[in-house]
Amino acid sequence: MRQSDAPKDEAAPDASGPAFTKRSLAAQALGRIDPVTKGVVAPLHVATTFLRDSDNGYSSGFSYARPDNATVREAEAVVAMLEEAPAALLFGSGMAAATAVFSALEPGDHVIAPRVMYWGLRRWLQAEAPRRSLDLDFVAMDDLDALRAALRPGKTRLVWIETPGNPLWTVTDIAAAARLAHAAGARLAVDSTAASPVHTRPLTLGADIVMHSATKILNGHSDVVAGVLATAKTDGFWERIAAIRSGSGAILGPFEAYLLTRSLRSLHLRAERQSANAAALARRLHDHPHVAAVLYPGLPDDPGHAVAAGQMEGGFGFMLSIRVAGGEEAAIATAARVRLWKRATSLGGVESLIEHRASVEGPDTPCPPDLLRLSAGIEEVDDLFADLDAALRAAH
Ligand SMILES: *Cc1c(COP(=O)(O)O)cnc(C)c1O
Repeated sequence: MRQSDAPKDEAAPDASGPAFTKRSLAAQALGRIDPVTKGVVAPLHVATTFLRDSDNGYSSGFSYARPDNATVREAEAVVAMLEEAPAALLFGSGMAAATAVFSALEPGDHVIAPRVMYWGLRRWLQAEAPRRSLDLDFVAMDDLDALRAALRPGKTRLVWIETPGNPLWTVTDIAAAARLAHAAGARLAVDSTAASPVHTRPLTLGADIVMHSATKILNGHSDVVAGVLATAKTDGFWERIAAIRSGSGAILGPFEAYLLTRSLRSLHLRAERQSANAAALARRLHDHPHVAAVLYPGLPDDPGHAVAAGQMEGGFGFMLSIRVAGGEEAAIATAARVRLWKRATSLGGVESLIEHRASVEGPDTPCPPDLLRLSAGIEEVDDLFADLDAALRAAH
């Protein structure tokens, strides 16, 4: 199977012209022109099977749609360019992408995951690690000494981090975690969903694999479920992940891939606007009489601010949480009273979402009961603040 190639021609500075920015390359989905029609949008390839050559070969490189698809490759190439990766693989969901990494490990391998992480993956790891004989530890990843102490040189094969970490938006130092993991002989994988490639590029900081739930800001319109992995090296571990995707039938469908490529063209505009809205909301809510705390790494007094400022650029992301003064009841009553914000799970869409997380995440969650998670969309920030402010006041 051929994996998506990084668009070296377009991105690399060379003698023939200037190197263009990721923003420009993404806006044109790499500027590829359909060779048949000269269309500026790539065609949607839906075929599941492909004609063999008369010598029985497959000179096009395509044989069947479960291992690979040309429309999927288009979106993979854009993500690979954004992450500065030699290759990317799209999956049918963020969970399919994340679990493919853990499925590529061997029985007996030791893995370390963060205490603060996407609850669905934490629950999957708790259920599946013992069945696969993976030795699993959860560590507070904002404490590098705790990570150092948990690593078992020669035994730990994977360190998984998520930064900023859902739903408390704790920050992990990617470069430091990569150094510690590598010194112990382990790979570092980063769930970078909440950062987006606009604000953080983990592979350039030493990570081996970066994962996104593309359901979130990469697609950004709350109408596609997808996941993606990008790798620093196309080594044997990556080949195994590709084989797992193919063997388990976890590839994204072509129509979803087409929608994702279309969305990636506006990623920079959306991410920058959504991060600016999140930052403005964090500042204004920080001083609100009915808000006990704002969790957002962009705030100067946030415990993760210094590390985030060092590894994020152009913003601190579109996600924040608030702890409502008055506790769980006031938090739920606030969510009940919003009109513009939509009371729904998920994140990263152009519409702003609000959710009481503790009631979703169950008893193991590090999420306090008074917490509301906010995903800032692209609406007018004064409207977003006015709606929340009215809801907070009415709930008290
Ligand atoms: C949503 C999410 C996932 C899971 O992605 P799906 O596309 O829903 O499978 C993983 N990590 C983070 C941080 C998420 O927000």
